[in-house]
Amino acid sequence: MIAVTKCAFCGGDIKSNPDDLLLICPFCGTAQTVEGAKLKEHYMIRVHFDQNQSFTTLLDWVSKQLGVPGDLGSTAHLLKAEQIWYPFWVSRIDAQSSYKGLGRDATFSDEWPQYRGAYKRIDFFWKPESGEFSRNYEIKVPGVGAIDQDIKSMAIPTRAKEYFSHDHAEQYGGTLLHSQMSEDGAKAAAKQIALDRQTGLITQEISKIESRDDKVNIGETFLVHVPVWEIQYRYGNKSFKASVSASTGYVIESEYPRSAAFRAMGLGLGFVLLIIGAVLLAMGLGVLEIPFAPIQELVGAYVGGDLVAGGLLMAVALVFMYKGASRKQAKEKE
Ligand SMILES: [Zn+2]
Repeated sequence: MIAVTKCAFCGGDIKSNPDDLLLICPFCGTAQTVEGAKLKEHYMIRVHFDQNQSFTTLLDWVSKQLGVPGDLGSTAHLLKAEQIWYPFWVSRIDAQSSYKGLGRDATFSDEWPQYRGAYKRIDFFWKPESGEFSRNYEIKVPGVGAIDQDIKSMAIPTRAKEYFSHDHAEQYGGTLLHSQMSEDGAKAAAKQIALDRQTGLITQEISKIESRDDKVNIGETFLVHVPVWEIQYRYGNKSFKASVSASTGYVIESEYPRSAAFRAMGLGLGFVLLIIGAVLLAMGLGVLEIPFAPIQELVGAYVGGDLVAGGLLMAVALVFMYKGASRKQAKEKE
């Protein structure tokens, strides 16, 4: 169901879904609530890679992946590149926590004479502990719920942010996504994430929290739109999808082909393992008797049991065959 709201600033029609809470006008680019209140802290990360540069970066990266056909870089071609601007809320948070609880400690007694530092008796006990610390966080909350996990967790260079420019966002015909998270919703989510991180730090110090006091101060909060190229490319007679950051050229994720030789190797190796596994399994179950006993004993001695070894080998074989047959998906390592 698509709702139409009038832009409170230029009067243009803004199309949105019922769960969009912060809208971006496609005509003037003003970020506003459904009620028409303007969001001033609206930023963007600029595009530094156009679609061709992003595709070049992508092919360069894909070509270096294991088993990728050697001619991919020269023969793959771009089918489609769509620029999507993803909204993220970023909050700066100061969190201060004090805690009281119990930590585990131990006393050591009765040292072994032969082994210095090794004790015959170790007695664990609970000891009251308390502490206080503060941390600063920059927490980002995606404005769109149903987005790809890798896009959700991509790094955002917030130091490079600039005030949102509608002209720049339109330069490559990009699609601007509304945010399903309101500013208040984003602040509440960021506060909870900060509290969870504080809890993680407290539990590193003590095992049982008996009481705690947290002062969480939400500072600057802004909305930033981040451009991503959603790319579709063709190699041979198949097409593959990829997401590349339009600001940094970073490959967020990509599918890619594997050469016939690489896949044949995977399938072949998998097949051999599958046969060996099946034979071991059959021997273990007593279905198959191999008259040549030394082999059986050898295998049994090395891997301890035909049933287990056979089952394991077959599992490994299936993984090899699956890897050989499936198309590969990967992301750039940071
Ligand atoms: Zn407008």
